[in-house]
Amino acid sequence: MTDLLTEAPPSFRTSEARIAELIMELQAVGLRMETDLETTRTGGAGPSDSGMLWIEGVPVTVPPNSASPYALRAEDDGQGVYRDGVKLASVSGTSRPRFYDLTTADGVPYHQIALLHLDSLASTVVQACNYWGNSDQCAFCGIGVSLASGRTIARKTPEMLAEVALAARDLDGAVDATLTTGSSVAPDRGALYVSRCAEAVKNAAGLPVEVQFEPPRDLVVLEQVRDHGVDAVGIHVESFDPAVLAQVAPGKFRTGIDTYFRTWERAVELFGEGRVSTYVILGMGEDPELTVEMCRRAVDIGVYPFVVPLRPVAGSLMADVPAPSREYTEPIYRKVAGFLAQRGLGPETAVAGCARCQACSSLNLVQKADHPSPCASGGGAAPLLQIGPRP
Ligand code: SF4
Repeated sequence: MTDLLTEAPPSFRTSEARIAELIMELQAVGLRMETDLETTRTGGAGPSDSGMLWIEGVPVTVPPNSASPYALRAEDDGQGVYRDGVKLASVSGTSRPRFYDLTTADGVPYHQIALLHLDSLASTVVQACNYWGNSDQCAFCGIGVSLASGRTIARKTPEMLAEVALAARDLDGAVDATLTTGSSVAPDRGALYVSRCAEAVKNAAGLPVEVQFEPPRDLVVLEQVRDHGVDAVGIHVESFDPAVLAQVAPGKFRTGIDTYFRTWERAVELFGEGRVSTYVILGMGEDPELTVEMCRRAVDIGVYPFVVPLRPVAGSLMADVPAPSREYTEPIYRKVAGFLAQRGLGPETAVAGCARCQACSSLNLVQKADHPSPCASGGGAAPLLQIGPRP
């Protein structure tokens, strides 16, 4: 394995490299919770079944694992990550968001409308998907799990989201919003409703918003999304390996990887380079070389491939599949980070959403460590998250 720390002499080791190494480890093997972490999320889509923390000021989602050699421990003033009794990093900012204690006038708890993922407000505005519960269900997804558990409501209205966004900004410092939706059979695949919600959030709270949806049947829908004032879009292919896609996301496979590229191209024309992103999940059996090559193609047209390790979601069809090792993910991060640096893409060009937040991946940390330049900064302290029923 290439090691960010051993490649350079000690004097050249950057704090970014050390943090990147630790976070890649944690996202591979998880974290033993020896103290309460109030911002743990279970079930649902996206970064679910994750602890959300700030490690040395970097936003991170980490899977809890009682067998991990890394432990989260309470300290007199905050928390720390330890291994074999040695402190490796400080942890902060994991208290329960204050807006979670509020309810709407008609009695809906704000935390059933949207959640705070570190500094990003996130909501699945329609908690249903036409693929869910049938042979098309994406194997990594948990969109139906949190609904069944009663932790969320099926449909959030623009008015609800506007109210919650304002509170999340003012009480808890939310800096952007990420809105996603299950896929719909309608020609727009649900893009227009989630965009109306985005418009309401922007009007109320002034936050930049990313919306996520499947490729609409008619690309003119993308113009309508833009006309709602949406800042960035996530259109998630999930895997560039057609054989894997056919197995884990048959609905997306039928849409076809070429359709994603066509949609991205038009979206980049409308939203700008870096403001169009796709999840690329590692650890589902994909061909790593093909994955890297396709990420390069995506970057070449201005798309940000948000490469993340598989995060097995309890209740999903892949609940028992382990996260990939650091030995597997690191070389892929490094190659994709090189493409991004060359193109001038990073969290700051993403403006809003998962690629802006970065907490579910070490991609930007690796980019900052390997390519220390202005274009590789901004994802850490400034700004994570993957949300994903990732349509
Ligand atoms: S990932 Fe998206 S398209 Fe796939 S089942 Fe979940 S919500 Fe539906």
